[in-house]
Amino acid sequence: MLMVILLGAPGSGKGTIASRLAASDSRYRHVSSGDLLRDAVKRQTPAGLEADGYMRRGELAPDGLIARMVGDLLGEAGASRVLLLDGFPRTVRQAVMLDETAMACGATLGSVILFEVGDEELVERIAGRRGCPACGAGYHVANLPPRQAGICDRCGGALAIRKDDAPETVRNRLAVYREQTMPLISFYEQRGLLKRVEGVGEIPEILERVQRALA
Ligand code: AMP
Repeated sequence: MLMVILLGAPGSGKGTIASRLAASDSRYRHVSSGDLLRDAVKRQTPAGLEADGYMRRGELAPDGLIARMVGDLLGEAGASRVLLLDGFPRTVRQAVMLDETAMACGATLGSVILFEVGDEELVERIAGRRGCPACGAGYHVANLPPRQAGICDRCGGALAIRKDDAPETVRNRLAVYREQTMPLISFYEQRGLLKRVEGVGEIPEILERVQRALA
């Protein structure tokens, strides 16, 4: 099993590109730790109940909880798959845990794609972000609008704004990214795994850059 880490600030396009990659090639599997947690919160599982408060405040959920969740997932993924890790790891401690889990289940870390997007654009993107709570599809009011305003193209569900996309929470999430996640850039750079991709422009353009970086 091969793993690719998608690294970047909230709103940098990791999820959008991962879902396009997964749609383009059946070997890819998109694994979003944020989606897994939102689903756990919705189902009120013990992990969901534990993570809920942290997510509302825009803080990171505890490393141990995330490690268990991702560990289970790696354990059950097929050997021929390429896992696109979106939103994980988010701390150096999680990166070290990922190395240990990968070793235990014979997985290899291929590359780490860093999505580079300026702060102003991140804030603008998050403000316009909409999602379908029913099927998980993502939209943006200007850059990626649904055919009918407020309605999911894929399943017809009503689109919603994520609770943690509120401006005051976003400020905190960006600060958390800078403090806790950005150290991963040098962590993976030192290992020669980091590939920087300009994350601005049209989605197909960015997708192509990522595909080139992965080739
Ligand atoms: P995301 O959808 O990736 O922006 O994640 C939404 C929220 O879920 C984050 O703000 C965190 O509260 C939580 N979360 C997602 N992934 C992780 C992770 N790897 N470690 C800790 N918390 C996470």
